[in-house]
Amino acid sequence: MNIKRVAIVGGGSAGWMAANHLGAELSRDPSIEITLIESKDIPVIGVGEGTVPRIKETLQKFGISEIDLITRCDVSFKQGIKFANWMDKEKHGVDNFYYHPFSSPYPSGFDVNNYWLSQRDSLEYSRLSEIYLVAEANKSPKHISSGPYSGAVDYAFHFNAAKFSLLLAENAKERFAVKHKYETIEQVELNSDGSIKSLIYSSREEEKFDFYVDCSGFRSVLMERLAVPFLDKSSQILTDSALVLQEPTTENMEIAPYTLATAHDAGWIWDIPLTSRRGLGFVYSSAHMSESQVEESFSSYLGRDLGFSDLRKVPMKIGFRKKFWEKNCVALGLAQGFVEPLEATSILVTDFSAQLLAKNFPKTTQDCEILSEHCNRAVEYTWERVIDFIQLHYFVSDRRDTDFWRDCTSNENMSDVLRERLAMWRLAPPKSSDFFSSFDIFGVENYLFVLYGMLYPTRKGILGPGEAERSSKLIATVNNNSQDLLQKLLPHREWLGKLDAQLKRAAR
Ligand SMILES: Cc1cc2nc3c(=O)[nH]c(=O)nc-3n(C[C@H](O)[C@H](O)[C@H](O)COP(=O)(O)OP(=O)(O)OC[C@H]3O[C@@H](n4cnc5c(N)ncnc54)[C@H](O)[C@@H]3O)c2cc1C
Repeated sequence: MNIKRVAIVGGGSAGWMAANHLGAELSRDPSIEITLIESKDIPVIGVGEGTVPRIKETLQKFGISEIDLITRCDVSFKQGIKFANWMDKEKHGVDNFYYHPFSSPYPSGFDVNNYWLSQRDSLEYSRLSEIYLVAEANKSPKHISSGPYSGAVDYAFHFNAAKFSLLLAENAKERFAVKHKYETIEQVELNSDGSIKSLIYSSREEEKFDFYVDCSGFRSVLMERLAVPFLDKSSQILTDSALVLQEPTTENMEIAPYTLATAHDAGWIWDIPLTSRRGLGFVYSSAHMSESQVEESFSSYLGRDLGFSDLRKVPMKIGFRKKFWEKNCVALGLAQGFVEPLEATSILVTDFSAQLLAKNFPKTTQDCEILSEHCNRAVEYTWERVIDFIQLHYFVSDRRDTDFWRDCTSNENMSDVLRERLAMWRLAPPKSSDFFSSFDIFGVENYLFVLYGMLYPTRKGILGPGEAERSSKLIATVNNNSQDLLQKLLPHREWLGKLDAQLKRAAR
């Protein structure tokens, strides 16, 4: 049977991301109709403010202008993540930090890691990126003259999640003619072969589609009905809860061009600056911290009582569906899986898998069997590696000051791939050939910044002729480039203010 009617269930950022990806790919066939269905009674999760640079490519593909994004979604730029307090305070000081910047630690493409290992006691690894000094100085990644989606250094965005969904929704409806309706699905009917036949709404109306995309968040209404098993990964990632709040900011406050991730006794706190407010989240392991300890620790971070804050507790289900694609249904976003928000992996995996679906979209229901096998293998591999990368942050820390850190750093529950890689990286630094496929969405450069940001112990190699001189020159060039950028780039807040003023002038 030909696939003509496609339903996307869920109007959170995953649903609208899927609508744009499918719209961009399928709208060239006018006989295909995409409908997004969301419930007025079931709210979206409303968190998810940090992204990674890949989002720029995606938004360009959707045809969304960077100026629209910046002005409509309270955007600030993100040049990476600053990890504070992830190391032992006794050994590295109370203010210890490192960066995972959005750049390469190979200056001019040259591998300086062998040299860096010989200098590790005196040279912070983060300094292999220009972003270290640019971000520390709160500079914008873009010049005023930089073109759309490009800058002097690479970047992604922080945004207001609700406004981002609205922008995606408007784009999908206007540009790709995606239909939109409000209904609450009460029942999911199956065909005799176990595929989905129809949706029954609370109005009792029944509606049939040929293909379904489950973006219904943690409820995962379609995947649950299809009884697709959920692979629980809570033994690898111990954090399972978040306390979320928003703080207003004033117009004159500086805006940091990075996500600040500050570790605490049983997890970490995200601190994301937008133009209008700060988004904060206290991520923790409920097995290691009581509610009162959470409040005390969060309040000490904020420097004030939590009494009047609009706090929201979000339980987190860590793991993913064994199958991303079952019969005539695919799951995306939280319905597909989730690993706590460190490194902003959720929108990234949604984006990645929605694109995979769009590129492999079946023409007939018979195609599903062939295509699903490939896509399921790819998405399962992606999730496993994303979980490895998150677990790495906790595992390689040298903190041993609380039960949580002792449990994380002695956690034997990890994938064989991560175990093998960590053993190899004790012998020599990571290299690109350690990563097997394009489904390793975090690759050698990401691993290098995290491992050596936390001084992972790798055996020193013998330096080749001229290797030390060449490496040290290249690292000096990174520093010179940073100094140059510090002179030329505007402060982040000033850049955003100038854009705002320009647009206001143009509107007059
Ligand atoms: C604490 C926390 C912090 C996070 N931070 C980040 C971050 O910094 N970066 C990042 O990339 N991601 C982050 N995420 C993940 C991010 O929030 C999600 O990827 C994103 O919001 C997408 O959610 P969603 O669309 O899958 O689900 P939701 O936003 O929950 O949307 C679900 C939709 O399904 C609909 N629905 C549900 N049931 C039915 C039904 N029966 N009938 C009809 N409709 C139904 C609802 O109406 C809603 O529209 C975070 C998540 C958490 C929990």
